[in-house]
Amino acid sequence: MKVLVPVKRVLDANVAVRVKADGSGVDLANLKMSMNPFDEIAVEEAIKLKEAGIAAEIVAVSIGPAQAQDTLRTALAMGADSAILVKTDETIEPLAVAKILKSIVDQQAPDLVIMGKQAIDDDSNQTAQMLAALLGWPQATFASKVVIADGKASVTREVDGGLETLELDLPAVISTDLRLNVPRYASLPNVMKAKKKPLEEIDAASLGISLAPTLRVISTARPPERKPGVMVGSVAELVDKLRNEARII
Ligand code: AMP
Repeated sequence: MKVLVPVKRVLDANVAVRVKADGSGVDLANLKMSMNPFDEIAVEEAIKLKEAGIAAEIVAVSIGPAQAQDTLRTALAMGADSAILVKTDETIEPLAVAKILKSIVDQQAPDLVIMGKQAIDDDSNQTAQMLAALLGWPQATFASKVVIADGKASVTREVDGGLETLELDLPAVISTDLRLNVPRYASLPNVMKAKKKPLEEIDAASLGISLAPTLRVISTARPPERKPGVMVGSVAELVDKLRNEARII
């Protein structure tokens, strides 16, 4: 079984976000970029399937600038077998990402696409769903458990009321939630080995897909500063503040 894992290069989750002075977006200059955390979980799950003898091959794919090679090398160091960079310096919206991924799926013919439920930069939570729709494949989003057997995937999803388990025919698209697994760190020897693994580059413009944005960012702003908390001396004082200041009781 072949597994395709899309991985996005995003601002590292531990870096404090700075908004550009003109409010047009987030300032990424000279800041640490990393693999989207939900995509690390997807890579980990693909590796687990390979270790269990279920997956035979893992292909990582990223759409982005030349620096997204680093993200792909991380996926290779974790355990992916090969990588594809679809190179573009444009900002690509989820629909265009889904269309590009569809063309890679058409080329690579994987049995499973496993990807993050959302990218932590745009928080769109759209790409997996749109990719499944474009492919006409079944989808299971927000997976917290994945079992593959007999050409089917059984996926437990985190939903509002608890857990829901779906059975899907393969090929399918699965998106990962936080509790699916804990991604491994790449060991130094594996980082070295990853440098020799195949990384193909494709120019996004060569795919004949419109990358033109359909959305315009009107403004980007930091959330308002939170006021510092206060220590109360008694339960009565707390109740009084909740009633008269916070007005929530
Ligand atoms: P989003 O719909 O933007 O929140 O992204 C959901 C998932 O789609 C991410 O976790 C990635 O797996 C995938 N994805 C989004 N953008 C890209 C990209 N530029 N390159 C590779 N994968 C991407």
